[in-house]
Amino acid sequence: MPEYAFIGRSNVGKSSLINMLVNHHGLAKTSQRPGKTQLINHFLINQEWYIVDLPGYGYAKVSKTSREKWEKFIRAYITKRESLQCIFVLIDSRLEPQQIDIEFCYWLGEKQIPFALLFTKADKQGMNESIKNANAFKKKLGEFFEEVPASIITSAEKHTGKEDVLNFIYEVNKD
Ligand code: GDP
Repeated sequence: MPEYAFIGRSNVGKSSLINMLVNHHGLAKTSQRPGKTQLINHFLINQEWYIVDLPGYGYAKVSKTSREKWEKFIRAYITKRESLQCIFVLIDSRLEPQQIDIEFCYWLGEKQIPFALLFTKADKQGMNESIKNANAFKKKLGEFFEEVPASIITSAEKHTGKEDVLNFIYEVNKD
């Protein structure tokens, strides 16, 4: 069955966003210790497709060895998984473009993995600020990509973008 993976820096709001999409608080669990969870969790939706919860990246306190282990494991999943349709890269809408997120997107581009951007926590500031940060991020990607990937501004708190994300998935599933 088709898989849609969610990834981003630790604390970006990934668990909250997954829980919002499926109306199930506590389905995707927040790790008490960021960077601790190193599993790939699958959640079957409507007996039709999977949400794949990938461990967060960029947690400063994990050792170099465990970071390398993470990289190998996740990169193998991303590049080899045939059922993977699209990866949602979560970006904190409050921040200006962060190098680690840009580099991850560049790597996806290099490997020709389809992905879309989800800007998170948009309720934390005015919509204009979120749009400004989203545009700055896409501009950075534009230096590398001919076609900038789709992006959706979201808030798990306010359920912003929920329909857009689900519609995006249903559209890809139709093809
Ligand atoms: P994860 O580590 O990426 O899975 O992030 P979590 O979903 O656990 O969220 C990290 C923190 O950000 C938690 O304190 C959440 O309550 C908070 N958070 C996540 N999404 C939102 C959001 O849309 N709005 C607000 N205001 N806070 C959020």
